[in-house]
Amino acid sequence: MVDLLGQYQKIRPEVDAALQRVIESTLFIGGPEVKALEAEMAAYLGVKHVIGCANGTDALQIAMMALDLKPGDEVITASFTFVATVEVVALLGITPVFADVLPGTFNLDPADIERKITPRTKAIVPVHLFGQTADMEVIMAIAAKHKLYVIEDNAQAIGGDYIFSDGTRKKSGTIGHIASTSFFPSKNLGCYGDGGALFTNDDALAKRLRRVCNHGSDVRYYHEVVGVNSRLDAMQAAILRIKLRHLDEYAAARNTAAAYYDEAFAGMAHISVPERSPNSTHVFHQYTLKVTGGHRDALKKHLEANGVPAMIYYPVPCHLQNAYKSDRCPEGSLPVTEQLTHEVLSLPMSTELDEEQLKHISTAVKGYFKDR
Ligand SMILES: *Cc1c(COP(=O)(O)O)cnc(C)c1O
Repeated sequence: MVDLLGQYQKIRPEVDAALQRVIESTLFIGGPEVKALEAEMAAYLGVKHVIGCANGTDALQIAMMALDLKPGDEVITASFTFVATVEVVALLGITPVFADVLPGTFNLDPADIERKITPRTKAIVPVHLFGQTADMEVIMAIAAKHKLYVIEDNAQAIGGDYIFSDGTRKKSGTIGHIASTSFFPSKNLGCYGDGGALFTNDDALAKRLRRVCNHGSDVRYYHEVVGVNSRLDAMQAAILRIKLRHLDEYAAARNTAAAYYDEAFAGMAHISVPERSPNSTHVFHQYTLKVTGGHRDALKKHLEANGVPAMIYYPVPCHLQNAYKSDRCPEGSLPVTEQLTHEVLSLPMSTELDEEQLKHISTAVKGYFKDR
């Protein structure tokens, strides 16, 4: 699905030198590389604070701890997402409340968010799925009206722009009260291990986020609140500093591949290419088709038989997972989400796809439908 080796080979001298530099510094945790990454990323995003942590799941948990969300509180989020978003809510004893998504962009449906608000609701967690930013302008207005926090799960849309109705743009992950991201290797900005970060424009929140990451402590051996140990290490930061400089070019390469796919599949009866939101650029963390007519699973098998990997993100929505089932959100209650789990199919997407590979993949897709 991705080509991390091909990508490494293009930046190898820089990466190897950076790793050598970190090893010789013996500053493996925190230190100047992490500080520099945080500053460079803040400048790139146009956000006041970037705080490194151990992974994207921790980032979400730390955000909720810093906002002092407590058992009994409710957090509204998507069921059509990677489980991490929901897992940390449940781990903290908070109640996840699922809202449906829009059938075109797969992002949270603001109207359904509003329907799910109760007196216990404390926060909304929009997940910017597959590379497009959810409709933040509308979500922030709903949050302001009901005095809720917004935590953007930006693990899949880093580098993308949100476009406001007046045409102004802000980077994805810089609009909510806090945003989280992941540097898992296959993410758009991936390191060579685990990593994550938090973004905020709020000085007081930034302080609380750093404190939670660091055992609830501002001054070593003095603990103000219950915290966790969640650190970005210096080798990952050094790699991320290099890859951050290529992030826009990586997004452009992904868009070139997406445009090739779009053209190849235009007009096909059972295939819908990814809908582009008018409020967001797309950084194509995934290129996800909707395959109708009950053909999705057979198409996936056909592709695999032709040497083309294809993945279903996500086959079972969170509200139907054994770990998260509840009477409050039974089967049938999120119709768009449930239908999408039967139709979505993600094709290979990376910064390194060449025309020959794209041709092979799209020919295989068309080959399946030839006599149907
Ligand atoms: C990858 C991902 C996460 C979790 O990130 P990790 O670094 O793997 O912990 C959370 N949310 C979404 C939407 C993701 O895609």
